[in-house]
Parts: sequence; C-alpha cells; structure tokens
Amino acid sequence: MIQVERLEYSYPGAAEKTLKGLNFAIGRGEIFGFLGPSGAGKSTMLKILIGVLKGYAGSVRVLGQELRFTGPDLYERIGVGFEFPNFYTKFTVLENLNLFRSLYSVPTEEPMRVLDRVGLKDAARLKVSQLSKGMKMRLNFCRAILHRPDVLFLDEPTSGLDPVNAKILKDLIKAMKAEGKTMLLTTHHMQAAEELCDRVAFIVDGQIKLIDSPRELKLRQGRKTVRVEYRKEGEPVVEEFPLEGIGNNESFLQVIDRYPLETMHSQEATLEQIFLETTGRSLS
Ligand code: ADP
Ligand code: MG
Repeated sequence: MIQVERLEYSYPGAAEKTLKGLNFAIGRGEIFGFLGPSGAGKSTMLKILIGVLKGYAGSVRVLGQELRFTGPDLYERIGVGFEFPNFYTKFTVLENLNLFRSLYSVPTEEPMRVLDRVGLKDAARLKVSQLSKGMKMRLNFCRAILHRPDVLFLDEPTSGLDPVNAKILKDLIKAMKAEGKTMLLTTHHMQAAEELCDRVAFIVDGQIKLIDSPRELKLRQGRKTVRVEYRKEGEPVVEEFPLEGIGNNESFLQVIDRYPLETMHSQEATLEQIFLETTGRSLS
C-alpha cells in the first residue's frame, strides 16, 4: 500500500536534511507506527506521504502511485488525521462534517453514524469551539474516515489526551484495522505503539534505526527476569533472577522454599527501554 525508498527532505533554507534516506514498506491491513522523540521528523515524513510537502528526493509510492505525479484524486482514497485539527469553530460539529463530506465525489458515510461511532452523537449540534480537546480529536477521526478511505494517516492520534479519550481513539484504530484498513501512525507514546502497531519504526534525527514488530523486539531484545519480593527476618527484600533456567536456579529455589513471598512476576523489557538501548535516545 505504501512504499518509500531513499526518502530525503530538507525544508527550504534549512542547513541540514530533516529526513536522511528513509526506506520502508507497509502492507495491506497493517498498522505501522513511527515512534520517535519530538523533532525526529515524524510529522515531516507524514506530510510528504500525504502530498502536503513536495520537493522530496527518492521514491514515495502510495497505493501504487508515485506521489510526485499524483493529483488531488489521491485524497479520495486516503484519510488524514492531523496532529492539530482544523475545523470551522463557529459552525457545529455536524455542519463541519457535512462541509468536508461535500468535497468528495466518492460515496461517504452518514455523518450522524460516524459521530455515533466515536461517541459524539449528542455533540452534533454543538459548535466546534465548545468541544474539549478529546472531543475534537474524535471529530478529527470522523473527518479522516468520512469517505471510507483504504489508507489512514494519523499524526499523534493519542497525544495530549486523557486516558479515557486515548482509549476511545485506540479502540477506533483497532476497529479500523478489523475492517481491513491500512494505517500509518506517528507517536511518541511507547504504550500506544506497543498496543496498536503490527510493526514500528524507531526514528531519530531523520533516520530509521530499526523496523520490527513490538512483540519480536521484546522477545529478542528483552531481558526476561523473574522479580521476587519476600520477607527475610521481617525485612522486605527484592531480588531478580534470570527467567532462563529458573527451575534449576538454586538461589531462586531456596528463596521460594524458605521465605514468605509477597509478589512474584516475570517481566520483559518495555519498548521504551528497547528504544533507549537501540537509539541512545529517550522518547520524551
Ligand atoms: P516530529 O513530528 O517527529 O516531532 P517534525 O517532523 O515536526 O518532528 O520536525 C522535524 C524537524 O524539522 C525539526 O527539527 C523541526 O524543527 C523541523 N521543522 C518542522 N517543520 C518545519 C518547517 N515548516 N520549516 C523548517 N523546519 C521545520
Ligand atoms: Mg510531530
């Protein structure tokens, strides 16, 4: 659905390249996440993939077409959720959706149905200026899916949201996947990436450091341990043992035999730790 080869980009007048040779491909039905700290180039890359920034070097194909040579009909087939959504704030939620809907020549969703889906049916007649940030991000999602696109681009879909709204957005993204949509999202939230993405690309300073599935990364790079909390002569003790060979680990066996246990958990490295180890950078 998306193929990017040797993508480079510099903002006009900038001394340094913002994107320094990106290569990746995204298959049908996949959720692909760009994970990286602020300033890494995620939004820039996304703006190129949706045709907003032009003048890139390399090859960028979306739905089989080289972006350089595509016209506005691309927008009938892709959906975009911008990081900072733009709406006509003095108009109602419904008026906004009806306006955006009128721009498409392909069949579109009934706005009230989409609003119902994101829990905004009761807000249909509110002015956009009256919406909370979470409601606006949900409306942003409605706008992105209004024309039933096959591919969705979502820039920071959960950032700045409270846990309830973040969960609503994540559930919507999962529902889109179940419908077979292909999605590219950017995030600096390890949790969202881990929960949603089939594969993630770690991006730092305009370069991809690694592409893999969160699960594989954790299996391969994760240090698996068993963490035990117990009481020794009344005092709390915390100890970690390697998960491998735990059944023959004498000191572990002594601990669980001799002392009253308080908790015992196996644990993997988090995606955030793996990001730090791979890139030498933290996500914040
Ligand atoms: P991210 O989305 O990963 O936080 P961005 O793509 O927004 O990163 O930014 C990447 C780099 O490009 C940053 O150094 C940023 O300052 C620079 N940049 C972003 N937008 C512009 C612009 N319009 N003009 C010049 N430089 C920009
Ligand atoms: Mg960004």
